[in-house]
Amino acid sequence: MVQQLRKTKRVRDGLGEVSPLTGLVRCESCGGKMYHHRSKKGNHDYYECANYSNSRAKFASDHCSPHSCSSKSIKVILLDVIQKTTAYVREHENDFIKMVQENTSLRQGQTLKSHTRKITKNERRIAELDKLFSSLYEDKVQGVITAERFAQMSNGFEQEQQNLREENITLQSEVDVFNEDNEKVDKFISLVQKYTRIEELTPTVINEFIDSIVVYQSEWSEATEENRRMGTRSQRIDVHLKYIGDFSVPDNRTDEEIEAERIKEEKAEERRKKQREYMREKNAAKKLAKEKEKAVAVKQSANVAKTKTKKSSSAKKSSPKEKATA
Ligand SMILES: [Zn+2]
Repeated sequence: MVQQLRKTKRVRDGLGEVSPLTGLVRCESCGGKMYHHRSKKGNHDYYECANYSNSRAKFASDHCSPHSCSSKSIKVILLDVIQKTTAYVREHENDFIKMVQENTSLRQGQTLKSHTRKITKNERRIAELDKLFSSLYEDKVQGVITAERFAQMSNGFEQEQQNLREENITLQSEVDVFNEDNEKVDKFISLVQKYTRIEELTPTVINEFIDSIVVYQSEWSEATEENRRMGTRSQRIDVHLKYIGDFSVPDNRTDEEIEAERIKEEKAEERRKKQREYMREKNAAKKLAKEKEKAVAVKQSANVAKTKTKKSSSAKKSSPKEKATA
């Protein structure tokens, strides 16, 4: 019971609340962390770039734009990414492994084999060159070859060894990346197998699946007008998963489905645009009506003032004709 009460209080705690996404959300523009904020009324919570928040402070040197994004939107995207990726891994494990490996320089086991073979061959040649150098030195000591010839040949051996060593470093690092990626793929697959289905975004799910979230500057579908942002707001958010990073599930929709989706979105945007235009006209009409009203009021008060002055001056003259005009 006490636990329950404490829990409820924590949620209502506003800024004091520890958000499960803390430390995971980053700003795309400046690379800074994005922190959890709550609106004054408490009905809206969002993430904002720390460098933007700081720039509001008097002496801040770093500046960034707000990059604000609601917690709700981030969570919706996270759950969607996790659900889609885990479903894909479950249904197409082999394709998934291939896809992750495609991102590495070594695509197939075949290349891995030839890399390993080349490394061994190079090592053998390096050892051979050591021996050749020793016997060359012997020849020099015994006076079989001149010092000049010795210098020339030993330089050649050294250069060859140097090239082989450099080549092996490159080959080995590619093999390492391949092995590491394989390990990561295995780890991710075991993680997916831990869950039968992920229905909600619990702190454990976030902890296990999310590496980082990168929030981009939002964009508006229409040009800015007198510093006012117009149209539909859209914002890119990249979700980097643990082990596999920014993995995108292949789009298995047919061309017809993609086209239907596009038309649907186009129509929705058209409707939103019309709605915006309607609202703009309505607001403009309202503004105009208000201005007219104001103008009439100003004119009337001016008239009253005029009449008053006339009244006061006419009072002296006490002309009946002037009084009639009032
Ligand atoms: Zn920033």
